[in-house]
Amino acid sequence: ALDKEQMQGLRGIREFLKVRTSYDVLPLSFRLVVLDNELLIRKSLNILIQNGIVSAPLWDSTNSTFAGLLTSTDYINVIQYYCQFPDEIDQVDKFRLSSLRDIERAIGVLPLETVSVHPMRPLYEACRRMLKTRARRIPLVDVDDETGREMVVSVITQYRILKFIAVNNEKHTILLRKSVREIGLGTYTNLATADMSSSVLDVIHLMVKHNISAVPIIDKENKVLNVFEAVDVIPCIKGGAYDELASSVGEALSKRADDFPGIYTCSEDDRLDAIFETIRKSRVHRLIVVDDDSRLKGIISLSDILKHVLLFGEEEDDIRAG
Ligand code: ADP
Repeated sequence: ALDKEQMQGLRGIREFLKVRTSYDVLPLSFRLVVLDNELLIRKSLNILIQNGIVSAPLWDSTNSTFAGLLTSTDYINVIQYYCQFPDEIDQVDKFRLSSLRDIERAIGVLPLETVSVHPMRPLYEACRRMLKTRARRIPLVDVDDETGREMVVSVITQYRILKFIAVNNEKHTILLRKSVREIGLGTYTNLATADMSSSVLDVIHLMVKHNISAVPIIDKENKVLNVFEAVDVIPCIKGGAYDELASSVGEALSKRADDFPGIYTCSEDDRLDAIFETIRKSRVHRLIVVDDDSRLKGIISLSDILKHVLLFGEEEDDIRAG
């Protein structure tokens, strides 16, 4: 019966995502910071920090077009460039946001697919596209009726979508009574971790190597002390202080903004309904799975949750439907 209810809950949420649009997720009024592509990368850091944001759409004012999304991955790419070409630090200081594509090419990373969705398309579509491209945020791009030009309406994130689900689907999420262990939610093997004395650069290299957005910081007994997130890179390189990346994670984490939401943990016996309850109430960007002694067991990312919500039992559904 638990299985049946779990599927019933998941189907309910999927139906909800099919009848709502990305536009529905947006608050009634919001602010959108768009950065000009010709801005110096160095200056973009200050603007993000001053506005308390970690990403922004880019605008190409020469062609009046949307030029992609600036995220912490771009700054990590700049850092990798600096590591590969340390003699070019003067150059790095002069880079503009429009140089980000050249930087990707120079360090040999694949350019991120520039996906966008129309705000009036079903939310379900935005979710599927996020999972497919592994994008954590997608710009909502519309075309202005009068000028025929593209315009960026807003950006939706995995976080916003899960929050929207949690807030509007209580009658479905209460059916999700299976535990994290039972549904195999999250990653439990080959976890990338670091300790307080690891350098920021070491941790950044771990994130790049594993293609992940957070690294738990543990002590000798495997107890979780903190989590270094990709967005923590932004304050680290503020003011072009790239040499400070050699300093320890411990030091870097002390630079976090005062409103840092904290880290969230859960146990393998916690149920998905409880996780949705946490998402409903707090600013959760991932859950660290620990045992009774705070020892690290695993990580549940927002993409793991979104994947479960959208895809669990999908094939079976398809078979039955058709
Ligand atoms: P998101 O896509 O929500 O930002 P991540 O990129 O951090 O999340 O996670 C991508 C995948 O890698 C997920 O399946 C997650 O469980 C796993 N993962 C996240 N962090 C780590 C880590 N430190 N070590 C190993 N796997 C991880």
